[in-house]
Amino acid sequence: MQTFIVEDFLITPDGEEADRILRSCVHCGFCTATCPTYRLLGDELDSPRGRIYLIKGLLEGKEATEKTQLHLDRCLTCRTCETYCPSGVEYGHLLDIGRHQMKEKVRRSLLERIRRFLLRMILPYRRRFSFLLRCGQMLRPMLPQNLQKIIPPRSKPGNIRQDIYSRKMILFRGCVQPALAPETNYAAIRILNLLGISTVEISKETCCGALDYHMAETGSASDFIKRNIDLWWPQINSGVEAIVITASGCGVMIKDYGYILRNDPDYADKARQISSMTKDISEIFSAEDINKLRNHMKHEHARTAFHNPCTLQHGQKLRDSTESVLQQLGFSLCDVPESYLCCGSAGMYSLLQQDLSQQLQQEKIRNLISGQPDLIITANIGCQMHLQQATELPVKHWIELVYAALQ
Ligand code: SF4
Ligand code: SF4
Repeated sequence: MQTFIVEDFLITPDGEEADRILRSCVHCGFCTATCPTYRLLGDELDSPRGRIYLIKGLLEGKEATEKTQLHLDRCLTCRTCETYCPSGVEYGHLLDIGRHQMKEKVRRSLLERIRRFLLRMILPYRRRFSFLLRCGQMLRPMLPQNLQKIIPPRSKPGNIRQDIYSRKMILFRGCVQPALAPETNYAAIRILNLLGISTVEISKETCCGALDYHMAETGSASDFIKRNIDLWWPQINSGVEAIVITASGCGVMIKDYGYILRNDPDYADKARQISSMTKDISEIFSAEDINKLRNHMKHEHARTAFHNPCTLQHGQKLRDSTESVLQQLGFSLCDVPESYLCCGSAGMYSLLQQDLSQQLQQEKIRNLISGQPDLIITANIGCQMHLQQATELPVKHWIELVYAALQ
């Protein structure tokens, strides 16, 4: 694709990057048929190719309007288009640049700015979020049915018991997961222990920065990222082997730290190293001798359907890692049609684009239950909570399923 990006922007690092990515797109349109928003809305401007043209126009100095903003806002950042693009277009990186430029050019309404500000002031902060969630959980019995669905009941996994081994890995806790589903990391710790690995938790660790970054708040996202790097670095120097992630939405972001800070003279090298050490928990399992676990499996397995989050299959390009670990452990999974599709959770998308998000949620649930499972499993807290709101079946992280089978 030929580009005519305005000179002042073209000479910036983001300008060079956008130019490189735009030029790699041959506008073949192979990406459109699998784009969830194009499938729902049927509008080329809600497809990857359409959005690429919109971003190109924006960077070439065309007028930016609220309509352009709407088409970019409707993108889930699911990156399904990257999986199906034969030219390897880095759509996700281009979208981040486009959204940042859009923020500079089109001011949102006051109400929308307040809404976004409040979400950014609550969700990434573990204590604030936990406090509000606890309040909601206490009031839950008095709330209408539709609100009760949004607030999960309180879960208490008990005190975390940790065995000490010479092999150590940092276990990233995330911002909302410890309050919403503490049992996930509890199960991860116990199973890593069975594999002879201790986990290190960094108490002052912050949000991975994804929520701010995808809302084009790059300054605050950078602060989150650098804070985490500073906190992890002493552990990395003292022999930690990896940073283990149980929420694929955080994993895809931390694996991108190296890219995001590539031009930062103080952090580029550290960020690159941290990204290369970051592993989804399925990758850790794939590299270990998990037959040790299989020998301890005691339970009859329920019929299970796996929802592979976009951040795992498209963002981290780990399309089969979880399924192959589960199959190796002896679990059999139901077939799920159109498993490449997003569930509509997508970070804050379920709050900011409720109508589209709910349509995707319903479609995903239909596909997940088509094999009549007793249980749905996934690998990301956002998807887990979002799907749980639309089904009576339990929705869990897959690591909990493995842990339950070991009891
Ligand atoms: S992003 Fe890829 S698949 Fe989509 S139009 Fe461009 S080259 Fe084709
Ligand atoms: S990231 Fe997802 S929603 Fe956005 S254009 Fe690509 S496929 Fe469509």
